[in-house]
Amino acid sequence: MTDRYARLRLFEHADLSKLAKKRVAIVGVGGLGALSAEILARLGVGQLVLFDYDTVEEANLNRLVYRTDQVGVKKVEAIRGHLRAANPDVQVVSHPYDVTDGRGLKALKEETPRCDLVLGCVDSFAVRLFLNAMCVQSRVPLIDGGASDDGVNGSVHVVIPGKTACYRCNRPALKDSSVAPPVRRENGGACHFTSLPTTMAVIASLQCQEGLKVLLGFGSVAPFLMYFGLEGRLERVDWKRDPACGTCGRRRR
Ligand SMILES: [Zn+2]
Repeated sequence: MTDRYARLRLFEHADLSKLAKKRVAIVGVGGLGALSAEILARLGVGQLVLFDYDTVEEANLNRLVYRTDQVGVKKVEAIRGHLRAANPDVQVVSHPYDVTDGRGLKALKEETPRCDLVLGCVDSFAVRLFLNAMCVQSRVPLIDGGASDDGVNGSVHVVIPGKTACYRCNRPALKDSSVAPPVRRENGGACHFTSLPTTMAVIASLQCQEGLKVLLGFGSVAPFLMYFGLEGRLERVDWKRDPACGTCGRRRR
């Protein structure tokens, strides 16, 4: 048999067919999230829930997935056809809204507890903290990914509520610990920093690789991975939970 899952069935570390029953939310489908969505779709994750209020801009075309003829189209709508063409088995739910406001916030609150995993693919520190608090409260694993402002480094942080350090645990200087959404940015924020498709592909792949391990329970999940593109180096950091963390620490329980 040479069906689309033939090579995946040969994977010996986990039963990848179980992904068909998984529901994964991806918050932000820009340079990172669009790639992670495609990877998960090709792996056969049953349901993908996508959040992004942005439209495709010409400045996004240096990265992967989006096409020139999609400029001006909402990203979650543009990617839906792409994912459907990649794997028609995957159900795609699109929320073309900001997760920190109005309909997007309502949808995120409803969707998060229903998901097996949330991928954070945003470019805002405040939204990262917000997603972290939301996932810790809902007891749903979060995998945050991001690239550095100079485009060549990146990191992936796995938050398994109650088990691994949350996004705030090792950032004690941070004040915000609530699930209150941050103030919405007034500008689109798309073009303030450089972005390389190479780095985005590395980080998206690492994010999904850890996601597979979290979803299917194999291998050793890396709590924090740092990628240094100029040196060609990958470093794992086994962060510990902070019992006094304002988001996941004991005083919240
Ligand atoms: Zn914490």
